Amino acid sequence: MSQKHLARLLQKLKEFEKPKIKLEQYTTNADVAAELLWSLNLRGHIQNKTIIDLGAGTGTLGIGSLLLGAKKVIFLEKDEDAIKTLKENLEQLEKEYELPKYEIISSDVTNAEGEFDLAIMNPPFGTKIKKIDTLFIDIATKLTKNILSIHKTITKEHIQKTYLEHNYKIIDIFNFKYSLKKTQDHHEKKVKIIEVSAFFTQKNNKIN
Ligand code: SAH
Repeated sequence: MSQKHLARLLQKLKEFEKPKIKLEQYTTNADVAAELLWSLNLRGHIQNKTIIDLGAGTGTLGIGSLLLGAKKVIFLEKDEDAIKTLKENLEQLEKEYELPKYEIISSDVTNAEGEFDLAIMNPPFGTKIKKIDTLFIDIATKLTKNILSIHKTITKEHIQKTYLEHNYKIIDIFNFKYSLKKTQDHHEKKVKIIEVSAFFTQKNNKIN
C-alpha cells in the first residue's frame, strides 16, 4: 500500500447521500485523509493500534486506518443514514481486502467510553451547534492520549487553547485547502473552497 493507493481507495468510498446540515456532515477529502493517516502511521500510531473514529460518518478516516493495518477500529456515529453508507463502504471493501477487526457504535459522542491508542475525528465545526467541536475534543481526551482532529482553520486558536487546557501538547498542525461540493438543496450543487487544519496532539508527560 502506498499513500497514493490509499487515497485512490478512499476516493472510491460513497459519501453522505443527503448531508444533514445540522450535523455538519461532510466527508474528509480522500487525499487529505490519506496524507494525515500516512503521516501518523509513519510515526507508529496506526498499525496494530486500537483506534476510535468519533463522528465517523461514511468512514473515510476509520476505513483508511483499517487499510493501514490498525488492530481494531471503532466507528462511532449517531446518524443512521451515515451508518448505512458506512456499512456499504465496508462491505464493498471486504470483497477485495481482508480488513482488521472493527465495530460500529450507533450513538451520540457523549456516550463514548473505553481506552484507545488513538482517536481520529473530523467533528462538526461548531457552526450549527455551538461548542460541539470542543465537546468532541473534551470527550476524546477522556479516551486516549493521542488525538488527530480536523477543524476549520479559522477556529485554530480556539482549538489550540482547548488542547492546552486539557494538558495536551500540539505535536503538529497540517493545513489544507480544498474544494468542497456543498449540497445547498436537492437540486443545486455549489463548489466552495474550505481551509482546514488538522491537529495531532498528545497528552503531556507520557512515556510512549
Ligand atoms: N468522519 C467523517 C465525517 C465527518 S462529518 C469524515 O471524516 O469523512 C461529522 C460527523 O459527525 C457526521 O457524520 C455527523 O453525523 C457526526 N456527528 C455530529 N454530531 C454528532 C454527535 N453528537 N455524536 C456523534 N456523531 C455526531
